[in-house]
Amino acid sequence: MTEIPLSPQATAFRFDDIPDYYTCAFLIETQRRVFLLDTFAGPDSMTTLRERIDAIQADRQVVVVNSHFHWDHVWGNSVFEDFPIIAHDRCRETLVARWDEQVERSGRFMQGKAGRVFPSVVFGDRLSFLEDGIELFHSPGHTDDSISLFDRRTESLYVFDNLERPIVYVEDKDVDRYIATLESYRRLNPKHIHGSHTVNLDDSDITQTIRYLKGLQAGIPRTFETDYETKVHRENMAFVGKGI
Ligand SMILES: [Zn+2]
Repeated sequence: MTEIPLSPQATAFRFDDIPDYYTCAFLIETQRRVFLLDTFAGPDSMTTLRERIDAIQADRQVVVVNSHFHWDHVWGNSVFEDFPIIAHDRCRETLVARWDEQVERSGRFMQGKAGRVFPSVVFGDRLSFLEDGIELFHSPGHTDDSISLFDRRTESLYVFDNLERPIVYVEDKDVDRYIATLESYRRLNPKHIHGSHTVNLDDSDITQTIRYLKGLQAGIPRTFETDYETKVHRENMAFVGKGI
């Protein structure tokens, strides 16, 4: 695990255990609360972060967030069972329905034994921590349960898997809605944009991803430089029904 300071109030914790991409959990501190965004791939990966949170927490409330139902964002939940775990209501539903399927498909990446711990607090459209300047909002795109977080104090937008380099994974057929989400990010005018698999994104990533998604919708053939991008693109084409 590598620590990447993002600001005096925020840190990314980068895990390099999965081939092809790294994955981050984020810690955001405010005067009243400590927010942990995502719990990576199992309890063993979260031991250091738990110790860290216990050490800094003092009398602040700890809030854990699950950005969406994918295993590399939730399998460490059991380490934080004593705190509220917040997610979109569809995230909880999908996790309950697809827990076993994800273990079967990706269990080889599990770190320690991931307990079935689901989000305990869910929301629909938006959830604001007003005194903290922290807003969580539904941002369907990568998946239909994806949420994003905006930290008003530093104008930092956390998009999780909705933006990443070199290519995004599309697992929601409603590509128009994905594009609308990306356009809505612009209205926040963020100074910093962070994704789970790429920290420090910028507006050009929004532009390029919208262009990619429009091409995907139109079924325009594309070639890529790496096998990884070719593979993800083929899976995206199949998912939106444009595959061969
Ligand atoms: Zn994902």
